[in-house]
Amino acid sequence: MEGALTARDRVGIQDFVLLDAHTSETAFLDNLKKRFSEDLIYTYIGTLLVSVNPYKELDIYSKKQMDIYMGVNFFELPPHIFALADNAYHTMLAEANNHFILISGESGAGKTEASKKILQYYAVSCPSTTLLDNVRDRMLLSNPVLEAFGNSKTLKNDNSSRFGKYMDIQFDIQGDAVGGHILGYLLEKSRVVHQNHRERNFHIFYQLVKGGEEDLLHQLGLESNCQHYSYLVQGECANVASINDKNDWKTVRNALSVIEFDERDIQVSCCHTACANSFCDDIHSIAYCAILCPTTLYIIFLLGVNVQVLQEGLTSRKIEAKTDEVLSPFTVDHAIYARDALAKAIYGRTFTWLVNKINDSMENKDSSCKTVIGLLDIYGFEVFYVNSFEQFCINYCNEKLQQLFIQLTLKSEQEEYEAENIGWEPVQFFNNKIICDLVEEKHRGIISVLDEECLRPGEATDLTFLERLEEKLDSHPHFVTHKLADKKTRKTLERGDFRLLHYAGEVTYCVVGFLSKNNDLLYRNIKDVMRQSKNTIVRECFASKESDGRRRPETVASQFKSSLLGLTDILMSKEPWYVRCLKSNESQQPGQFDDVLVRHQVKYLGLMEHLRVRRAGFAYRCRYDVFLQRYKPLCPATWPYWRGVAAEGVEVLVQHLGYLPDEYKMGRTKIFIRHPRTLFATEDAFEVC
Ligand code: ADP
Ligand code: MG
Repeated sequence: MEGALTARDRVGIQDFVLLDAHTSETAFLDNLKKRFSEDLIYTYIGTLLVSVNPYKELDIYSKKQMDIYMGVNFFELPPHIFALADNAYHTMLAEANNHFILISGESGAGKTEASKKILQYYAVSCPSTTLLDNVRDRMLLSNPVLEAFGNSKTLKNDNSSRFGKYMDIQFDIQGDAVGGHILGYLLEKSRVVHQNHRERNFHIFYQLVKGGEEDLLHQLGLESNCQHYSYLVQGECANVASINDKNDWKTVRNALSVIEFDERDIQVSCCHTACANSFCDDIHSIAYCAILCPTTLYIIFLLGVNVQVLQEGLTSRKIEAKTDEVLSPFTVDHAIYARDALAKAIYGRTFTWLVNKINDSMENKDSSCKTVIGLLDIYGFEVFYVNSFEQFCINYCNEKLQQLFIQLTLKSEQEEYEAENIGWEPVQFFNNKIICDLVEEKHRGIISVLDEECLRPGEATDLTFLERLEEKLDSHPHFVTHKLADKKTRKTLERGDFRLLHYAGEVTYCVVGFLSKNNDLLYRNIKDVMRQSKNTIVRECFASKESDGRRRPETVASQFKSSLLGLTDILMSKEPWYVRCLKSNESQQPGQFDDVLVRHQVKYLGLMEHLRVRRAGFAYRCRYDVFLQRYKPLCPATWPYWRGVAAEGVEVLVQHLGYLPDEYKMGRTKIFIRHPRTLFATEDAFEVC
């Protein structure tokens, strides 16, 4: 017993549920830290997996490790992302229902890495018939491609996802992974034309310029030096120590060919990328001479559109006079706007096209898909020095996921108690619904107010938007502006900012750009030119529902809101599993555990509350057959076999171990144990035997 305690002291406890009953936040953190210092980055809270980013390669993800975790119960091996993946998989097979794994945590906490490990586990470990191997390869290789086009270096993470991704992994009745489908959420297009200091544009630009083959660059009229492109060097960090763009290009190119991109598709993806970045340098010629430089003209030629007409569209507006149309030249600002809008549109639509292509290639063609496991990896909560519309959307999304988590945890816990015929005592919880409502409520919510302002072109500005917010939300406890700052928080606010008290902390947003980013308008004549392109893919990218040009397109925030509602519906109909990722330090350094930073995340991710819910009553539960299988050596009546019903065997076993009646309850299919110490004693006895 002494010996067992010492081992536990050294590596901590692998399931928080088994810490002392009134675990304090400090004890919780001590346990995480102890484990982190031993490179044990995973810890459970029941079936929830907590992961702390080690910022170094650990030798725990090999095929051999995958095999070890196949079909093994949670507590028999050290906590692992593979254990969670495996449990979700086997539960799905046993119960023939759909599941999803929600991976959350702030930017840089390790969500994307976790989702890749899970996908690898399914693609590599599940039973396989050679026929399907190529579908699996494509699923795996969709990752480098989407990361190239959708990830970027930010201040928080050198490989930060700038889009949300939900991927269904489809399984057939034997449990073979037979196909996949991806839904992409709101790509941060503004990055194409603007990056903050020490941040980059999307990886693909640098990969292409630095690694692109001579022929390809020549075809695209591109130089092999990033310094030629101001869209690539605004942030002054075209080279990043942890990134090898040249090699990454090779990986991406290879991946593109595996996922059935023919040469033409590859050329088109690159061409659109090239277009998006070449436009930038042309602004002077656009604005002053109303002509475009040869590179841009060449790029326009590649797009297959009428050069003359697009040039007109980028430099002037058509005004309908009585009998005919006249061209009114743009001001510099307008020209910049038109150019940026087109660059963003080309890039954003190419990204959507890319996701569709990938989906075609991963499609399960023989329609024998039985069940799915959904994998959600979305941009994490973000706070920068200056926060804009993009952070507003990202943080709103994180509020929604937190809300879903709260609803599902409480619901599932309650349902389990009911299903097992065990009494349920409700637990108090901080509910962030109030903040979700603040953002999304009809008429009063921030998105509604923003949309209304967007309907008053010419009159409304970012500042009038802020005034409207102040009028409507004056008394809201989670909303603060300049005028109200002193009343609600001690910190002062600049004019032009508003602050939201998110569940994860305060964020101050600068309203500049909210209206135009929410409108995301592309001048109609430019859109028309693109739709008439000779290039079918360009036409495909620009064909859309709102093609008559009369109906007002939905705003970006509203579109995002509806896509998140759709996502919530998708998730609500499935069984949840959670991975909560924690960032160990802000400087992306191995071995550093920043207590204050981790404590803050533990708090806002609601981990303590989750722990309280998990043991509001019973700290531990286990299926009868599993429990009996593990502990049967502890009782002569159950060893080596118990020939009757598992539940009865467990009853005999725990009686023999001396469990008191108050210490446990027998549910329908599981035994529930009230205190961790009871299980500990059993576990210690097991280790000794
Ligand atoms: P997020 O998606 O949450 O923003 P990422 O998954 O991109 O964060 O992780 C950021 C970086 O942290 C990765 O590029 C990698 O260097 C490191 N990292 C994350 N998880 C792990 C892990 N399990 N093992 C080693 N390094 C990791
Ligand atoms: Mg990510």
